[in-house]
Amino acid sequence: MRIPLIVANWKMNKTVPEALSFAGEFLPEVKDITGRDILIAPPFTALLSMAGMLKGSNVLLSAQDVFYEEKGAYTGQISASMLKDAGCEFVIIGHSERRQHFGETDGTVNKKTKAALKAGLKVILCIGETLDERNAGRTFEVTGAQLKEGLKEIDLSGIVIAYEPVWAIGTGVTAAPEQAEEAHSRIREDLRTLYGRQADETRILYGGSVTPENVDILMAQPDMDGALVGGASLKAVSFVRIVKYKKTGG
Ligand code: PEP
Repeated sequence: MRIPLIVANWKMNKTVPEALSFAGEFLPEVKDITGRDILIAPPFTALLSMAGMLKGSNVLLSAQDVFYEEKGAYTGQISASMLKDAGCEFVIIGHSERRQHFGETDGTVNKKTKAALKAGLKVILCIGETLDERNAGRTFEVTGAQLKEGLKEIDLSGIVIAYEPVWAIGTGVTAAPEQAEEAHSRIREDLRTLYGRQADETRILYGGSVTPENVDILMAQPDMDGALVGGASLKAVSFVRIVKYKKTGG
C-alpha cells in the first residue's frame, strides 16, 4: 500500500526562528492526522533545530540536497551521514532548480542517491521536463531517461519519485490533473519495466504550483501518491490545508 506523502520544500527560505515559529503553528494543527506521511525540508541551517522541534511528532525531516562523498576537502558541501546525524530521514535529490542552476546531472543524481541510501536516508528523486521538451513531444523520453540514469544500479526500496514539470514549478501554472495523471502512470510503467512489481509499491509525488485550491483534485488521481510543495508550504495555514487535502475520488 502506498501511504500518501506530503512534502514542504522551503528552498532558500526561513531563518531558524522563522522555521521554529512555523513548526509551533503547524504541529498542533496536524497532530491527529494519520494515514499520511508529512515531511518538511528546511534549509540546512535549520535542520538541527527543526529536528528537535519535530521529535515525537508525526512530521519527519528532510534535507533539500546532499553531496555524494563521505567526507573531505569539499568546501561548502554536506554529506549524507551529516544529514542523518542532524535528524533527517529523507533527502530531496535532483530538484530542477539544482539541475538548472548548479549543474546537477543524472550522473550526480545517481551518485548522490547511492550515498544517501548507504547512509540510511530515503530519497525523493525529482524528474520532469521543461516546456520546450513538452512542446517537442519529448516529455516521456526525458522522464524515462532521468529515471533510468538516476536510478542506475539502485534498488527501488527507499526511493520516492517526484514528478515536477519544470514549467509548473514556482510559476503558478499547475499541470492539469489529467496531464499529471498521464505522466504519473507513464512513470510507473517505466518503473515496472525497470523493476517489475516493486513499481506498484513506489510513491510518485506531483510537484508544481500545488496550492490549497488545487490539491484535492490533484490528489484524486489514481497514480498521485502525494505532493512536493514549494511556495504554498511557506505559510503554516496554507500547508495545513494541503496536508488535510480531501480525497474526492474523482
Ligand atoms: C518545488 O519546490 O518543488 C515546487 C514544486 O515549488 P512550487 O510549489 O512553488 O511550484
